[in-house]
Amino acid sequence: MSDVILRLALPSPLRRLFDYRAPANMARQALTPGMRIRVPFGRREMIGILIEIADKSEVPADKLKPAIALLDPVSPLPPALFKLCLWTAQYYQHSLGDTLSWALPVLLRQGEPAEARQERFWQVAPGARLDDPRIARAPRQREALATLAQHPHGVAHTLLGKLMLSKDSLDLLLAKELVQVEVRRHLPLARHEHWLAQPELPLNDEQRAAFNAVRSGFDSFHAFLLAGVTGSGKTEVYLQLIRETLEAGKQALILIPEINLGPQTLARFEQRFNARIALLHSAVNDRERLDAWLAARDGEADIIIGTRSALFTPMKHPGLIIIDEEHDGSYKQQEGLRYHARDLALVRARQENIPILLGSATPSLESLHNAHSGRYGLLRLNQRAGGAQQPRFLRLDVKSRPLDSGISGPMQQAIGQTLAAGQQVLVFLNRRGFAPTLLCHDCGWMSECPRCDARMTVHQRSNELRCHHCGYDERVPRQCPQCNKVDLRPVGAGTERAEERLNTLFPDFPVLRVDRDSTSRKDAMNQLFNTIQRGQPCILVGTQMLAKGHHFPRVTLVAILDADGGLFSGDFRASERMAQLIVQVAGRAGRAEEPGKVIIQTHLADHPLLVQLTEQGYFAFAEQALSERRAAGLPPFAHLALLRAEAHKPGQAESFLDEACSAAEQLLAEHNLHGIELLGPVPAPMERRAGRFRAQLLLQANARAPLHRLISAWLLLLENMPSGRQVRWSLDVDPVDLY
Ligand code: ADP
Ligand code: ZN
Ligand code: ZN
Repeated sequence: MSDVILRLALPSPLRRLFDYRAPANMARQALTPGMRIRVPFGRREMIGILIEIADKSEVPADKLKPAIALLDPVSPLPPALFKLCLWTAQYYQHSLGDTLSWALPVLLRQGEPAEARQERFWQVAPGARLDDPRIARAPRQREALATLAQHPHGVAHTLLGKLMLSKDSLDLLLAKELVQVEVRRHLPLARHEHWLAQPELPLNDEQRAAFNAVRSGFDSFHAFLLAGVTGSGKTEVYLQLIRETLEAGKQALILIPEINLGPQTLARFEQRFNARIALLHSAVNDRERLDAWLAARDGEADIIIGTRSALFTPMKHPGLIIIDEEHDGSYKQQEGLRYHARDLALVRARQENIPILLGSATPSLESLHNAHSGRYGLLRLNQRAGGAQQPRFLRLDVKSRPLDSGISGPMQQAIGQTLAAGQQVLVFLNRRGFAPTLLCHDCGWMSECPRCDARMTVHQRSNELRCHHCGYDERVPRQCPQCNKVDLRPVGAGTERAEERLNTLFPDFPVLRVDRDSTSRKDAMNQLFNTIQRGQPCILVGTQMLAKGHHFPRVTLVAILDADGGLFSGDFRASERMAQLIVQVAGRAGRAEEPGKVIIQTHLADHPLLVQLTEQGYFAFAEQALSERRAAGLPPFAHLALLRAEAHKPGQAESFLDEACSAAEQLLAEHNLHGIELLGPVPAPMERRAGRFRAQLLLQANARAPLHRLISAWLLLLENMPSGRQVRWSLDVDPVDLY
């Protein structure tokens, strides 16, 4: 008797498949790859995905365990998604089972049936008449029946309120058998004839050229970079391309950064189209996510909008992928499967043979490089669409000027003048809390986190010292813990302190703070924005939460309190991030009639990158930064992989990495691989974090193929290295943050 062997991918970090025996009642003909199967694993049960069916296993027959149950009658994973997951696992050198588990909706991983939720639908009963004598004197029931009669497919129970249908009236009608309730799936609506719910704006020349370029690439894979200054009407171009996609009977997938999740962004898509929109973002619950995923898979959603992981939403009729704000850091996942959704979107577009459009006012250097080398078509929008002017930039040298809570004298004057002119001011400081550290003026003690190599931030309002790296907090001490003197002073300024100071300086104007601390309440952010939209003179103080997506037409001055962090950081991407942030924040200003002004406080007023950025704009800056990267042999002119390790005891992470480094050197020699440098191991820039000691080993290669050949052989060795058991380690292919 020959057994049927099921070869499964399991949600485990081990880079291999696992064999199980098919139970007798599991007929071989009924099995296809992609089906979910419940199996025993150690003392637990797991849900695996069938990859192959085999006749033989390397595992001895008496060790081979039988699977428990088959969960799907057909594979819930369409082949295209499966192919993308295989590619992803291979490229990021991650276990296939774990990759699939990141890619699938939570409920599917947990074994829920791959079926959309059933709903209760209210319908007019066959033969029921509006003039039924039993309701002749019941106007509310008559009205309810009339409303229901307008919906021949019935009304979902959850929508009763929206149609002002009262449950009481319906219950009375039900008792008279004039209406009936049916439990079923949402009926897919017929495809629309008229996709537009709202007229389109006539495109200007630049928009039209961009639109036409993408439109003419609709038949197959083409990649475009839409580099348009803030307010140049990129979104309008997206909307019109989506309409074209819908008219061709296809679906469009739009990825947006986490921070853009504001209602404004989504509303623009929802208001424009008569279309079924599936939303997959962090505010959507697991059930809604599964429903949206299934609807997209089955061609019952026309537009799919979501954050990073929505990239893994299958589409029955894929037509177009759009990545909004393609430079945004939230597209890179920083845990588990460390994928970059923008990079994978390109792979997906190629696999599905459809066009992809990356849009940004501040494109990543990677994407600009791809545009220069001809891999992407470059589309530029240089003018603001509504006719507003680009803001003017000023560098304010604060080398010899005292800062008062982070604000110099000339900056105070500029803020005062703007308010006096009846306009709004945006003060940007990418540091929340009151002050980044507390210092004893007597002995020099500083508020260090006991678990990290980092200072704790003073939060005055809650009277706490808080570590922004591990979350540790304690009360602000009244006297120095080291010398007991009472001369503790906050050093430096965060948004809380700037807010307090601005309140004192400008008591007649409201000061509104926008950061993670002030907006943790659900609609605090929206309330703030309403105040701002009303247009009274006021000051907005905030972190990068202010930089994205919002439109503040009455802001005419953007005050950037500190840009220097980005200019002398050890991270080679810091200047790129700083430039993007400055330009994005600046882009909030002067979007209506009045032109905007941006003043940047800096100690490095002559820094070439800052000069380039402020005098010639982001693209000139980017060219300069790209040539520096080329000279230094850094991405996008080189390829990186980072092996990180952390352990409870000092030295453990390093010894594992030392061993890993020797193994890599040996493999390089054995496989005759060239052009790869091993840098390290070194302690991580923040060596201790949340009580663990961290170290890293960087691999830098001038070509991708040898790097990938090295790591695929290397990881199998690392998995079996005894020193690896004492540490937590992970490999990051194309790391974005080098810490
Ligand atoms: P971006 O996405 O590039 O930041 P938006 O699409 O938000 O720009 O457009 C900025 C503003 O210009 C919006 O208020 C939008 O309605 C308007 N706009 C866009 N395209 C046009 C156009 N062709 N004609 C007139 N106004 C436009
Ligand atoms: Zn002291
Ligand atoms: Zn900490």
